[in-house]
Amino acid sequence: MLTEYDIVIAGGGMVGASLACALSDTNLRIALVEAISPDSEYQPSYDERGLALSLSSKRIFQALKVWHQVEANANPIKRVHVSDRGHFGKVRMNAASMGLEALGYVVIARELGTVLMSRLRNTGNVDLLCPAQVTSVRQQPDNISLSLSLPQSTQELSCKLLVVADGARSGIREQLNIKTEITDYNQTAIVCNVTSQIAHADTAYERFTEAGPLALLPLKQNRSVVVFTVPTEEAEHYLQVDNDYFLEEIQKRFGRRLGKLAKVSSRHSYPMMQLLAHKQVEGRAVLLGNSAHTIHPNGAQGFNLCLRDVAGLAEHLVQDNGLANDPGDKHLLESYLNSRLEDQQRVSRLSHGMTRWFYNNQLTRAATRNVAMTLVDLVPPAKDSLMRRGMGIWGKQPGLVRGLEL
Ligand SMILES: Cc1cc2nc3c(=O)[nH]c(=O)nc-3n(C[C@H](O)[C@H](O)[C@H](O)COP(=O)(O)OP(=O)(O)OC[C@H]3O[C@@H](n4cnc5c(N)ncnc54)[C@H](O)[C@@H]3O)c2cc1C
Repeated sequence: MLTEYDIVIAGGGMVGASLACALSDTNLRIALVEAISPDSEYQPSYDERGLALSLSSKRIFQALKVWHQVEANANPIKRVHVSDRGHFGKVRMNAASMGLEALGYVVIARELGTVLMSRLRNTGNVDLLCPAQVTSVRQQPDNISLSLSLPQSTQELSCKLLVVADGARSGIREQLNIKTEITDYNQTAIVCNVTSQIAHADTAYERFTEAGPLALLPLKQNRSVVVFTVPTEEAEHYLQVDNDYFLEEIQKRFGRRLGKLAKVSSRHSYPMMQLLAHKQVEGRAVLLGNSAHTIHPNGAQGFNLCLRDVAGLAEHLVQDNGLANDPGDKHLLESYLNSRLEDQQRVSRLSHGMTRWFYNNQLTRAATRNVAMTLVDLVPPAKDSLMRRGMGIWGKQPGLVRGLEL
């Protein structure tokens, strides 16, 4: 039996589920298709990773009416401290200096998933098909048809618009024959949580070391998320060593700002790459999230950027659908993409630049970098501009980021 929808979102990870939340309570008929149950330990989007959410993400989640639940599990970031190991450069940022309560918030991805999924279970216009995998996609002029594989059966769907939110290794992007440009950084992030002897005081630390960036993001109960980026050939070593040795290595690079680090959780690894799709719109399909652009997590910007794309697409669909009555309309999708390209390119260039800039310990490069960091720290307009970029409130942004409603 063929079921017809206005929109099918393929992939119910953080990005696909956020778009479904944004479009709930509209008159669009939507299917959200997710391959792996949110409660499964193999769910790749909702794992134990700590995510730093920017002010733009807070405003979007407020508009989606899920912020109060997200905030209940989140720890605010009131200060950010960026340093370069073995050098003098520092950048210190403070929410109070901008009259803000926080510069961002840290949430565990699994907890964010629980909030998004429970919001979707209470909506009338979104069918959550999970576990179900999109196995094939066929474009026609007036619609797209899809085949799904379910645990005991198969299902056929058709839709006006297919949103491809199936992650960096998107199989659907491949079926649509969209090529990508991939930069393999030969770096792997090792992620875990630790407890510190001295209270973190809602401070996020980013420390650039010769081995790669080391971030500590504040969590509740004086825990911090550690994101330790190492050359890929050393990753297995850091995953295998015992907890005491691992903590010593982190401590050596991080120093004693938070006193002794203890109680390390299980460690997980993520290979680092940049992936940019050559096209984000193909016929009636639009790529969203990591399938469109995956960036290095050094500036904690990946999901925040994706969520601004979610806001931009939702605005185009809600505002324009009344006129065109076709969510897969070519002009609507082009207009959405044009509105988002500048932000996407700016953020991906910045995160790529940081991988080159902070991994080079040549004397002249290190000296220039440290002078630049000191200037940013001491010159208020430079710091203000950096903070606004980090918070996703710089340049032309979707209405939801500016406090408007859909
Ligand atoms: C170590 C690390 C730390 C990070 N920290 C931050 C941070 O602090 N702040 C930030 O903003 N960003 C951060 N990011 C980036 C963030 O994790 C990504 O931007 C985000 O996960 C993208 O979500 P997504 O939904 O596009 O893709 P994914 O999370 O990969 O989700 C894709 C979903 O699609 C499903 N799927 C796949 N194929 C199919 C199919 N054929 N049919 C149906 N479903 C399918 C998968 O099961 C999955 O649930 C970090 C990333 C890493 C690796």
